[in-house]
Amino acid sequence: MTETPAKPKPRPAPESLPYWQAAKEHRLALPKCEDCAQFWFPPSRTCPHCLSTNFSFQTVSGRGKVFSFVTFHRVYRPAFAGDVPYVVALVELEEGPRVLTNILGMSHEDVCCEMPVEVVFDDYDEDISVPKFRPLAG
Ligand SMILES: [Zn+2]
Repeated sequence: MTETPAKPKPRPAPESLPYWQAAKEHRLALPKCEDCAQFWFPPSRTCPHCLSTNFSFQTVSGRGKVFSFVTFHRVYRPAFAGDVPYVVALVELEEGPRVLTNILGMSHEDVCCEMPVEVVFDDYDEDISVPKFRPLAG
């Protein structure tokens, strides 16, 4: 028997530290511009809408809808062998930004575009929790 290798651990960049700190607390937080009031993702040092550096991380609803998705049937990394088939989706949040993520909690065959979803946190270890999504309850 060979041991399954661990999945790669996300390594936060300086500009995304507040995002990962919030995720660790099971909150989804995105940068919001203080000048033009827009959210964006992924985190960066300037607002991509108006280039302002005046922003802060705000907790968002965690709700959105599937914008697009693909289903991976092939094992590209041995660490993910137990997960195939799995869904990689672009989820459009209620606040506007789209995030690249996984859809959990349902068969890959039932995932569809426009499907309402909510964030759920996949705890990698005590330092890192990865925001993923599941069908919206109710
Ligand atoms: Zn802005």
